[in-house]
Amino acid sequence: MMRMFSYRHAFHAGNHADVLKHTVLIAVLRHMTQKDTALNVFDTHAGAGLYRLDGDYAQTSGEAADGYLRLIQQQNVPVAQTDTALPAINYAATNTPGSQPMAAALHDYLDLIASFNTGGGHKVYPGSPFIIQHLLQGRDRDRLKLFELHPTDAKTLRANIAQLEAGRLVTVLQEDGFDGLKKFLPPPSRRALVLCDPSYELKTDYARVTAMMTDALQRFATGTYMVWYPIIPRPEAHDLPRKLKTLANREGRPWLHATLTIKSSKLGHDDTGEVVRPGLPASGVFLINPPHTLKAALITALGQAAEALAQDKNKAFEVQTGDR
Ligand code: SAM
Repeated sequence: MMRMFSYRHAFHAGNHADVLKHTVLIAVLRHMTQKDTALNVFDTHAGAGLYRLDGDYAQTSGEAADGYLRLIQQQNVPVAQTDTALPAINYAATNTPGSQPMAAALHDYLDLIASFNTGGGHKVYPGSPFIIQHLLQGRDRDRLKLFELHPTDAKTLRANIAQLEAGRLVTVLQEDGFDGLKKFLPPPSRRALVLCDPSYELKTDYARVTAMMTDALQRFATGTYMVWYPIIPRPEAHDLPRKLKTLANREGRPWLHATLTIKSSKLGHDDTGEVVRPGLPASGVFLINPPHTLKAALITALGQAAEALAQDKNKAFEVQTGDR
């Protein structure tokens, strides 16, 4: 019997974890789409695809306010002048003379999200399926496979994707993404990006990520793989990047590990002395076979994101790489 999940990404859309994940995803795909060869993209945990930031779910938790929306408000830096290919957003009102130019990867992230809000404002937040589809536009030979197990989210995702009239480019599969990936590897064109972004609601998700990655590298060692994970005080969460590092090193594949922390993970107290849980203080992405340009791009971007999203002095970021 299918297990029903209570996790709904709509509560979390646009939070600091999405800022990290989607900034990295966009930077990776910008690099991979520079070549004309057909690209296969697999999103093993796709979610509903599009979210309303003014909807009930998002407003209940208000997580975008501490993520994407805060980044927009806090950024007081001029756009990088090198990004001539990107659609322009007018940041002039908030520019501070002498301030550091906004990192290209962060600028690209904000521009892409803004392109879903053509009527102005920031009501819509695209999830990974729509971000990926946006970046594959005009590349007719590419294929995007979206796995989403939750019946409601899969239905919403299907309806959202249907509006794109993307034809054969995008397929929604209401299947287990950990298992479902297997049958598509290796892809005929031998070029693929796999995004693995589980909710980790089940403790077993951590082990399933490692098992999926071990199997995928056996089938297709040269694919680019990106795993998101929460940084929370739980042994499985702590061990996951270490296990992925060991796996990449054992297989002789290059890797990149990036983290973004916005606040302390310690319990706090409110004015009445009640214990306040910190929520999600940090998260990370682990990539195998990352683009060689990614490290430099992320160092500037995540430094600026950590400053803009900081909730206390524990804000931090890290970008580490390992070569074969
Ligand atoms: N990747 C999305 C994005 O960036 O917009 C967010 C995905 S959300 C963190 C995780 C999703 O995975 C949820 O919608 C959940 O219903 C779904 N899910 C949970 N377990 C799954 C599984 N085994 N296979 C496929 N989807 C699953």
